[in-house]
Amino acid sequence: MDHFRNSEKECKCGCGLNLIERNPDFLRALNSARDLYGSEMNATSMTRCVKHNTEIGGASHSAHLDGRAADIACTSMKDRMNMIRAFIACGFHRIEVSPVHVHVDMKYGATDAFMIRTESGIV
Ligand SMILES: [Zn+2]
Ligand SMILES: [Zn+2]
Repeated sequence: MDHFRNSEKECKCGCGLNLIERNPDFLRALNSARDLYGSEMNATSMTRCVKHNTEIGGASHSAHLDGRAADIACTSMKDRMNMIRAFIACGFHRIEVSPVHVHVDMKYGATDAFMIRTESGIV
């Protein structure tokens, strides 16, 4: 079952770009993590077009540009820990925690990474 709506998968600038379906391995792992986590996950950013990524200050080679990243809204310490456990169990090796979300990606050719962002920037 796919827990994520098209409105979550599409670029937030309104351009309609949705690259998530082109990455079934990523979407499958994300849904597995959602199942294991056992409660709602709201994706605030998945696909990004180059223009929108630039506008919001995203990294120039962000996996969001390839539809292989998701930002899941999370502000609770307990939920964050449970979410991270689920992501790791479902094969995510790149995780970034910010005060407002947990970012996960399966960027091609990238090394494993665990990052904590304390200011309000977005990867
Ligand atoms: Zn866009
Ligand atoms: Zn992100």
